[in-house]
Amino acid sequence: MVERHSPDTHHITNNDICHKAKKILRGLEKADHEAYLVGGAVRDLLLDKKPKDFDIATSAHPEEVKQTFGSSCRLIGRRFRLAHVHFGREYLEVATFRAPHDDDESGKTSNDGRIIHDNVYGTLEEDAERRDFTINALFYDLKTGDVLDHVNGMDDIEACQLRLIGDPETRYREDPVRMLRAIRFACKLGFSIHSESETPIYSLGHLLKDIAPARLFDETLKLFHGGQALETFRALRKYNLFQYLFPLTEHSLLLEDGTEFLDFVELALNNTDKRINSGKSTTPAFLFAVMLWDDLTSHFQYHLEEGQPAYQAMHKAASDVFSEQVRAMSVPKRFSSMTREIWSLQDRFNRRDCRSSLSFLEHRRFRAAYDFFCLRANAGHLPQEACDWWTTFQFLSLEEQEEICQTYSSPKKKRRRRRKKPNQNTHD
Ligand code: ATP
Ligand code: MG
Repeated sequence: MVERHSPDTHHITNNDICHKAKKILRGLEKADHEAYLVGGAVRDLLLDKKPKDFDIATSAHPEEVKQTFGSSCRLIGRRFRLAHVHFGREYLEVATFRAPHDDDESGKTSNDGRIIHDNVYGTLEEDAERRDFTINALFYDLKTGDVLDHVNGMDDIEACQLRLIGDPETRYREDPVRMLRAIRFACKLGFSIHSESETPIYSLGHLLKDIAPARLFDETLKLFHGGQALETFRALRKYNLFQYLFPLTEHSLLLEDGTEFLDFVELALNNTDKRINSGKSTTPAFLFAVMLWDDLTSHFQYHLEEGQPAYQAMHKAASDVFSEQVRAMSVPKRFSSMTREIWSLQDRFNRRDCRSSLSFLEHRRFRAAYDFFCLRANAGHLPQEACDWWTTFQFLSLEEQEEICQTYSSPKKKRRRRRKKPNQNTHD
């Protein structure tokens, strides 16, 4: 049964909705289709938060959405056929109402219960039921200002709790990423997870092994770049999920002396949160540099002891840890290369002579490497003086920099002993 919550019982108004979303909603209604704002935007507006994006659900089939918006509409996706309605480079997502899957031709589950195709169109009510949490299944009707609720989502908004729609274990088995979403939303919104939705998570983490590696990478970024990375990290560990995202990190954390590394990771995540919450940028490369650091240093040591020169030992160690990490999730090359640079540049901070230090400041990865270096110092792994020196040095004028760096000499190059060339012209 649908419950209609009229505008006087909640505080969403049409002014809260971006004009692009309003344009799409009105366009679809004009073409005689049902259309609503749905999902995260409705949830966030009800909670007085700024929505990340405005998603739209409609009775129109993708081809009909295309007919309505013509060339500004692109149809994408196989698993979910979706319409993107473009405004220049920006676009909004328009999804046709879907029914919860069943085992017919177009709504298929695999033997272990995962959904593999999901293109069965349905009614508004069915669309509500196939969504993950009750608070994510609320629809806002632009015409009337009503919030439509088929799943008691409004009560859960009031109670500040996340509750899966339907039988929790079945819903997690259908799509194990819902476990990660539960943790993400609980941390982001400060909500609790309803006990029936919470209990199965502790034992179903292993299902994450079957998730497409690229999707797991995307979800990981959402988990750690949402401004609550530290809290999310702790929750992921509590629910036994972290090991499926970062197996090497979890292994390091469980070692006897793992607390030092735990402090390091937590300090880094706290810094990431501060950066994100003050509008600064962050790169996934930094996250990987932190999470894999302990394992990297062990591999580095191992290759040094094998007799490899330092740069080669670092190269090999980085390859070792990434080849393990990509068994859990894919890491796009542009990020793993940057992580490798952050690591291999750490050694450059030990060289303060003019030749090395001045050119290092110009290096395109100086900033990221410096942040990582200072993180190590702040965690007590290096003398704080070393970080402070570079903090001061980079902001001095060139004359001041030259004055300072001249007091440091370049590392002595190993003199190559010149072999005497046999002199062919002598005949003695
Ligand atoms: P945010 O965008 O703030 O992270 P959101 O709730 O909008 O949160 P999206 O990933 O944008 O999350 O998804 C939009 C909506 O699609 C969700 O609110 C939910 O209704 C539905 N949805 C997303 N992922 C799933 C899933 N794995 N299973 C069921 N429904 C889902
Ligand atoms: Mg969203």
